[in-house]
Amino acid sequence: MALDIGRRELRRDVAAARRRGRSTPRVVIVGAGLSGLGFAIQLIRSGVRDFTIVEQSDGVGGTWRDNTYPGSGCDVPSHLYSFSFAPKSDWTRRFAEQPEILDYAEWCVERFRIGPHLRLGTTVLGAEFDEPSGVWNLTVAPRDPDGGVGAATAGEPGVNGVDGATGEPGGTGVIHADTVIFACGQLNRPFIPDVPGLDRFAGPAWHSARWDHRSDLAGRRVAVVGSGASAIQFVPPVAARAASVTIYQRSPNYVGPKKDRPYSARTRWMLERVPAVERAYRWWIYWILESRWLWFRKDSWAGRQLGRLFIKGIRADVVSERLPEESVVPDYPVGCKRILISNDWYPALMRSTVEVVDRPIDHIESDAVVTVDGQRRPADVLIFGTGFVTTEFLSHIPVTGEGGRRLSDQWARGAHAYRGVAVAGFPNLYLLYGPNTNLGHNSILFMVERQINLILQAVALQTRTSTRTTARTPAAGPGTGMTGRVGVTPEAYRRDDERTQELMAATTWVTGCTSWYKSGSGRVTNNWPTWTVRYWFDTLRLRRSELGPVSPPTAATTGSATAGPATATAR
Ligand SMILES: Cc1cc2nc3c(=O)[nH]c(=O)nc-3n(C[C@H](O)[C@H](O)[C@H](O)COP(=O)(O)OP(=O)(O)OC[C@H]3O[C@@H](n4cnc5c(N)ncnc54)[C@H](O)[C@@H]3O)c2cc1C
Repeated sequence: MALDIGRRELRRDVAAARRRGRSTPRVVIVGAGLSGLGFAIQLIRSGVRDFTIVEQSDGVGGTWRDNTYPGSGCDVPSHLYSFSFAPKSDWTRRFAEQPEILDYAEWCVERFRIGPHLRLGTTVLGAEFDEPSGVWNLTVAPRDPDGGVGAATAGEPGVNGVDGATGEPGGTGVIHADTVIFACGQLNRPFIPDVPGLDRFAGPAWHSARWDHRSDLAGRRVAVVGSGASAIQFVPPVAARAASVTIYQRSPNYVGPKKDRPYSARTRWMLERVPAVERAYRWWIYWILESRWLWFRKDSWAGRQLGRLFIKGIRADVVSERLPEESVVPDYPVGCKRILISNDWYPALMRSTVEVVDRPIDHIESDAVVTVDGQRRPADVLIFGTGFVTTEFLSHIPVTGEGGRRLSDQWARGAHAYRGVAVAGFPNLYLLYGPNTNLGHNSILFMVERQINLILQAVALQTRTSTRTTARTPAAGPGTGMTGRVGVTPEAYRRDDERTQELMAATTWVTGCTSWYKSGSGRVTNNWPTWTVRYWFDTLRLRRSELGPVSPPTAATTGSATAGPATATAR
């Protein structure tokens, strides 16, 4: 969206640094989902060339590469689910499906020539800040085909485009970076509950984000665990094919209609050929969605009305002997969990071959699921629509900052980042789609754009305050001098957290339901707690007194004040 302040500032400062023979920060982005790609596009548009995107899987798109299940798609109108600086004007329908969104991600790579900066099939295992040099060392290893981290294999490409930083050609090693952007997403580590007997199940079993397209479900008895955002999309097509579907759910959801439709040739022509129409349409969607924030305020009049409307409709159209109230009427306030949209969910539940089970699962046998009341229901296939590990953020990647402090210790009582992007004691390191930046009512990409804007201003400041000269040859490393150091002050970090929690107390998310937005302690770590307009305002301009230059340790305390040539460390 408008006011591209960060990109313009960085562009100016990169050009000035080059004129003065100073080097620009070497940036490493971890993750090639839409957030990582968005940041890369803005770097390229700012004139930055020294960056690498490290991605563990073998393609781009993140969420939209992983979630290939039948019916997978967006529940935000597509024109707002693309970057304003890389708009896609030719969406075929109002709510795009997964293949079209993945195409968009791949189009971004091609259109902005991101390909040479990609290092796919490589997992970042850890990040450590080298205090004297101000350089981040990222340990990387190739991902094995099963999704884990494997031994080094010869012949993989090294790091592209990062001045002086190389992983070993074999893929395992250390990458050196002046700026690190963790764009690892909130929803890509599948969660499978620890159900007794699961390992004894004889049929195929998979998580919705790892769909087994080789298994034909025709004529099979399918057990689905979970009834959340993914399940409401894949159950209808599965129910149309399988002999039977049994859905084991913890609690029913508020599911509203999806106003989806393919765009007519005339509408597409207008949106594609008249940029002003596309922009106006994007804004119109944004403000309609933004007004829905009113539903998410604790005990709001709008929320209560919406809840009543939902429940009245469900009672009138869905509740029956086969689908009693407890199976379809939510027992928590609207918005406490994600409000879902689908035109097929309730019709699927009404099929005679579909059963909804509200009793918890006790255990799984080789060919059946047994609930706590002792009922045994045969199953040939088991599908988990049980979501993701959501509240731990970077806990799977050890990150060590200034003074040896660990991010996991800092976040022991729940993840938090200043404006969702920066953590005190971790200079020049940022997150995209980090803590408290998820939404229930608007597009995540809007939030990610605002984060990119703020971080680019911080990188511009880093560039301005860098004393490092450009090396004569890339092989000679980054030259002499130090990169600038930018970080959030402990005071600003603390105040930001207090304000977030204060605002959170007035939202529906704290009203008692269990949801993926909350950590075990009950702290809401994932969602932004107010209007996105406020986030927009908060991230518009960098406040140097909050996120600004931080001093490096003096030469006397460290014995060194220069960043010598970066070296690759083979493992
Ligand atoms: C099924 C589904 C539907 C959704 N629908 C919507 C919607 O309608 N509207 C909406 O706004 N949002 C939706 N979301 C949320 C969606 O995740 C975000 O909108 C957005 O795609 C997040 O992009 P990302 O790049 O931040 O994260 P991701 O897409 O998760 O990408 C993160 C990337 O980081 C990589 N990575 C992680 N750890 C490492 C590591 N250690 N080393 C290297 N690479 C690593 C991952 O492999 C992945 O490619 C949906 C999510 C899901 C799962």
